Amino acid sequence: MPPDNSIASLLTQRRPLRSLEFFPPKDEAQLQMLHDAAAALKRIAPDFVSVTYGAGGTTRERTARAAELLRREFGYTVMPHLTCVGHSRAELHGIADRLHADGFRNIMTLRGDMPKGATEFQVAPDGLRYASELVGLLKARHPDFCLGVAGYPEKHPEALSLDADLENLKRKVDAGASFVTTQLFFDNTVYYRYVEKCRARGIHVPIVPGIMPVLSLKQIKRFTEMCGATLPKDLTTRLEVAAENTDVVEIIGIDWALTQIRGLLANGAPGYHLYIMNRAKSALALAAGLAA
Ligand SMILES: Cc1cc2nc3c(=O)[nH]c(=O)nc-3n(C[C@H](O)[C@H](O)[C@H](O)COP(=O)(O)OP(=O)(O)OC[C@H]3O[C@@H](n4cnc5c(N)ncnc54)[C@H](O)[C@@H]3O)c2cc1C
Repeated sequence: MPPDNSIASLLTQRRPLRSLEFFPPKDEAQLQMLHDAAAALKRIAPDFVSVTYGAGGTTRERTARAAELLRREFGYTVMPHLTCVGHSRAELHGIADRLHADGFRNIMTLRGDMPKGATEFQVAPDGLRYASELVGLLKARHPDFCLGVAGYPEKHPEALSLDADLENLKRKVDAGASFVTTQLFFDNTVYYRYVEKCRARGIHVPIVPGIMPVLSLKQIKRFTEMCGATLPKDLTTRLEVAAENTDVVEIIGIDWALTQIRGLLANGAPGYHLYIMNRAKSALALAAGLAA
């Protein structure tokens, strides 16, 4: 199997890219769910898919296995995520070499979050503190890696200010990152302002908006509290009216995401990255809505 194309080269094609994010399954039932979703999603031919690396660096092998499955069995271009958490430089070199030898050429490069309960980031012995350092390490090891990094339109929760966070994003890009994928957001003006600020700072790589179709009010409240994204009142009101009716919540979530994506693409976004929680339904509905 030839190595994957770089996402940077896909992004030069001047058509909006569609990408989907999976998480590595924990057990047989989740593996089946990933399998089913991956099979169903072939129909909409995403440009690439990504596989997260568990908080606390807990899913090293599971991420590798899921990435391998999606690449070999389903033929997707796969971008595994990699974090600094719990890894020495030597381990990170080993992981990079294995990914490269297996044909992966794209990596979402992150500092990562600590496991539940930990209050602040702990650097591993002979490890790295920031994603910008991991970008540098990976690029030095394999210059043909294409690296994505995370951007936070509403500021990373630990950053002192959006300005300081943008300085950090600039460091990641200067270290060799080729594109940015954003944290989820629900109000497009937040993204437009962020892109403007990035450009003013001299960050000129593509900034791909990350969109999460809401599946449950409880879940989205938990996610947004964790990552500091704002839930618009209009959206929460609708979700509260739907209460626990899952079908209605999903319709509201898809409708909101569809409106967001239409607006983003009309305003020149380079594509969209969907946080799909290993479910095909919303991504299929969005593709159908966009095709209309
Ligand atoms: C698209 C996307 C995918 C993600 N996937 C995963 C995943 O698979 N696994 C996972 O565990 N987490 C994932 N996350 C969450 C991410 O790991 C957390 O948000 C984490 O807390 C920060 O990671 P980072 O790569 O943005 O860190 P960094 O870019 O290193 O930034 C971390 C903090 O340090 C600050 N900072 C950076 N450099 C400096 C410096 N030199 N001096 C002072 N301050 C600095 C930044 O402003 C920020 O507040 C993802 C997030 C996004 C948006």
